[in-house]
Amino acid sequence: AFSQTSEKISNYAIDTFKPEDSILKEVKDRSAKLNIPLIQVNNMDGLHLELLIRISKAKKIVEVGTLAGYSGICIARGIQNDGILHTIELEQKHADAAKESFQKAGVSHLIKQHVGPGIEMLKSIEKEGPFDAIFIDADKVSYPKYLTWAEDNLKVGGLIIGDNTFAWGNIYKENIEDPELNTKVIALREFNSRLANSSKFRSTILPTGEGLTVAIKVS
Ligand code: SAM
Repeated sequence: AFSQTSEKISNYAIDTFKPEDSILKEVKDRSAKLNIPLIQVNNMDGLHLELLIRISKAKKIVEVGTLAGYSGICIARGIQNDGILHTIELEQKHADAAKESFQKAGVSHLIKQHVGPGIEMLKSIEKEGPFDAIFIDADKVSYPKYLTWAEDNLKVGGLIIGDNTFAWGNIYKENIEDPELNTKVIALREFNSRLANSSKFRSTILPTGEGLTVAIKVS
């Protein structure tokens, strides 16, 4: 089972590739101090984000779900030359923490923050597009809507990355009792299957613990 990386293997990867430096650790400390939930991407996925952005040479990038800036810093570290990350966050408190994180990381000049609901904010930045990459990591029920936006606003060759797409281990389950979780799982399944089945995309799900869906727009 490819997603069941043992703890020892996982520790080996972390010890060897050292995905988290003091700047990223500080982001988590900042969140803890401010009672912001510690729901940032896991450390290896942060490194995956940097690498994916670097490999794709993406310049105009969008993130939905800033939180305290952990993934934003990782994305910014993958930006080469004159790129920009538009990052969207609903909660002002999270955006304020992220602002400090970006300053401390020395990446503020690469980032434009937008505060408000994802769908509205995406509409408001459309004129800056088309975009090279989008990282989707906000409210799970809206993933299908964010995907529709990405279909219309990414360049051919553009990259879509979605976090938590194994739905915390529930993605394949048919009868989920908790109705809220069920709605999230249904939305995440729609997100994955649309990307898997559309001729406009070539897609996969990287079996990191959380499941990281990665797709490229091919037409
Ligand atoms: N990408 C972040 C990281 O790895 O550091 C983690 C993002 S966290 C999982 C999800 C974030 O999305 C939260 O900060 C939450 O406030 C925000 N959020 C929730 N609903 C949203 C919405 N409708 N529009 C924009 N942001 C939203």
